[in-house]
Amino acid sequence: MSPVLASVAVPRPVRRLFTYLVTPDLVPRCRPGVRVVVPFGRRRLTGYLLELTKAPPSFHQALKPIEAVLDEAPVLDPAMLELTRWAADYYVVSRGEMIRAALPGMQAVLESRVDLTEAGRRAREEISGALINPKHSRLAKDAAAREILDRVAAHAADRGTGIRLADLRRRIGARFRAPALRRLVDEGLLVQAEIAVDSGPRPGRQEMARLAEGRAEAPRGARQKSILEALARGGARPVPELLRESGAGRATLRALAAQGRVILESVEAPRLPPSLEAPPEPLVVLHPTPAQQQAIGAIADLLASRRFATCLLHGVTGSGKTEVYLRSIDSVLASGRKALYLVPEIALTPLLARRMRARFGERLALLHSALTEGERFDAWRGIREGRIDVVLGARSAVFAPLADLGLVIVDEEHDGSYKQAESPRYHGRDLAIVRARMAGAVAVLGSATPSMESFYQATRGKYRLLTLPDRIGAAGLPRIERVDMRREFEEVGHESILSRRLRAALGERLARREQALILLNRRGFSTFALCRACGTTIGCRRCSIPMTLHLHEEILRCHYCDDRRPIPAACPTCASPALHFGGTGTERLEDRLRTEFSGARVARLDRDTARGRGVVERLLTQFERGEIDILVGTQMIAKGHDFANVTLVGVLAADASLALPDFRSAERTFQLLSQVAGRSGRGARAGEVIIQAYDADHHAIRSACDHDYAAFAAKELAYRRTLRYPPCAALSLVLVRDRRLERARDGARLVAEVLRGLGTPGLEVLGPAPAPLERLRGEYRIQVLVKTAHRKGMQESLAEMLAALDRRKARVENLVVDVDPMSTL
Ligand code: ADP
Ligand code: ZN
Ligand code: ZN
Repeated sequence: MSPVLASVAVPRPVRRLFTYLVTPDLVPRCRPGVRVVVPFGRRRLTGYLLELTKAPPSFHQALKPIEAVLDEAPVLDPAMLELTRWAADYYVVSRGEMIRAALPGMQAVLESRVDLTEAGRRAREEISGALINPKHSRLAKDAAAREILDRVAAHAADRGTGIRLADLRRRIGARFRAPALRRLVDEGLLVQAEIAVDSGPRPGRQEMARLAEGRAEAPRGARQKSILEALARGGARPVPELLRESGAGRATLRALAAQGRVILESVEAPRLPPSLEAPPEPLVVLHPTPAQQQAIGAIADLLASRRFATCLLHGVTGSGKTEVYLRSIDSVLASGRKALYLVPEIALTPLLARRMRARFGERLALLHSALTEGERFDAWRGIREGRIDVVLGARSAVFAPLADLGLVIVDEEHDGSYKQAESPRYHGRDLAIVRARMAGAVAVLGSATPSMESFYQATRGKYRLLTLPDRIGAAGLPRIERVDMRREFEEVGHESILSRRLRAALGERLARREQALILLNRRGFSTFALCRACGTTIGCRRCSIPMTLHLHEEILRCHYCDDRRPIPAACPTCASPALHFGGTGTERLEDRLRTEFSGARVARLDRDTARGRGVVERLLTQFERGEIDILVGTQMIAKGHDFANVTLVGVLAADASLALPDFRSAERTFQLLSQVAGRSGRGARAGEVIIQAYDADHHAIRSACDHDYAAFAAKELAYRRTLRYPPCAALSLVLVRDRRLERARDGARLVAEVLRGLGTPGLEVLGPAPAPLERLRGEYRIQVLVKTAHRKGMQESLAEMLAALDRRKARVENLVVDVDPMSTL
């Protein structure tokens, strides 16, 4: 019989597949789309089986065998194999890396174990004996190695097995030296092996209690009685719920089970995240406005055609886009197909999950990164087995294994968090469109401030443009006022955080018991520390950016690498004590508001306060219930929230983001201002917005104040066209990072040289040049930009460049390829 071979993708940055032998015992379980454990170099990895082939009879190459098959049924269906293949090609990454990103949390647990070899045993005896074999004299002096050897030997003597690497490290503690372990393995005294101990999460289970049939004797005692009564009243139910309801303890229940009156059984039950466990919002059915009706109708027509189409739903803030999405989901479900609903960050929209729960009940699942591994796995399995019809999720939910997909919604499609910041750097919105195309589904992209990419496609007729030009409420869009802080400074005579206008407006809101949001997109207390004597700014030791003062923590922090150091009493350069902590971050703003409005309830929402599961959700719910008067925060407060009682939005340092040397900084500023302004006046009362800036005349700020998306887009697109930036050209970034500047420069030079050498027509290679953030986390960053009108040639050239570097054995680990980068910083 000719051997069976398998093509396996491994989650490593090598852009080719590897062939393994399938031993006859594994043949029945090896199917495309299953996860397998394969030897890879000196390690073992979870790989993905893509294809099986029969080797020709003459085949006699020595191949390593697949060691284990982790799944009974494939975790990747043909649609997902196709999507991940497309994405790997498009983003120029390996298929294994792409698949791993598509299956978050589904990694087998490989445990590393260390065991003594016969040679190791002998070496120990010889060292401890009087006679030291000269071969081991170096080992005898190597305390770190000896300790490792002793620990492994002690464990082996005790248990007769190898010790887990994690345990070995823990036992030895700070004295553990990885190089010493490596030496011992290299010398053959120890062996280290990876063993698959767990194929990943298992389905959630729940203990259920029900009454046994045909038993009617009187119960013993009040506790037993209350359990039996509860079960008689409400039927079978989960044990914790039953105990809560009856007030009885577990022992009582166990006694009843022992008597055969109650049956306890463990059944499969999905673990649910808190937002789905919470009681759902009451179901509100809204009567669509004519504008909503038109959009709903247009989408329904496209759905009925059962062909791929993309719509851009451009609706101003508060125009009721959500209802359009929900109605469209209704219509796709009615046709027997399923829906995927992507949002940038689920934690920021807890209300949406509860509203959707009310509407779709158990047909809804959530998928996002804040789920526990078990919750995510249960949701994934429910989707996979067809029990789920609607998935609400963040970026990676684009890979949710929904069959019969009819509708894909991408809300706030302009949001940068759809782009993954580490490899594979895919864009959730763009993959959503590709997925819709492959499935013959309708993609609906929604935003009040569409990305230049989507707007451009709509103007070219590639996307169907649907608009909701007005707000739902009679009050309409809020009035936006600009405060020029240069003029304010001249008139007031000193620097102040809050302008007179904003301070007065806040006072009014507090008096009227209305709420306010204040956006300041900078965390921390001060944003830089400057020596007044020598002019030095205290920068991060590892990044080319200033350190931020965090006063509550009493520490200086770097917002890129999170390096921390104590607040210095004097300048590190000239020892002068005249340090000035300048600039305002959210922390200082919060303090200022508390002192200035002493009775007000002030809270802050940024990455520093939002640590921990459920914190954001709690804070937003409190704000929603009116338990907070003023909420200060970074861009987290600008996203999608629908608070009816907010009538004032203030923005501080609105122009700060314009200073970033990036082609998207105007677009991002416009989006942020329009979005946060859109949180004001969403209820019955009219809203007001006050924007403070030094450069208040910039077109991004002016257009946002005039609610004039069209004017902004026209100007911005003209600029992109002139400078040949996306969406008017395709762009990729190749970044070379290295601790040594020379090596980063050489690497980037080689990249540019190889790319230029390819001579791809129309491919413009710019650089190498230092990235605007030249140093991050101790690494220098030199980049090469690639621009072209013909996207296809771009990816092929990048792939060829990587292959060429590989052939030259050039180090490629520190090389980042970012196709369609969100920023070039
Ligand atoms: P957007 O996402 O466009 O900013 P939302 O979908 O959050 O807007 O809707 C804004 C508000 O209008 C919400 O409070 C929503 O309940 C309400 N709303 C939406 N459609 C209707 C409608 N047809 N009738 C009454 N209220 C509506
Ligand atoms: Zn100094
Ligand atoms: Zn840093």
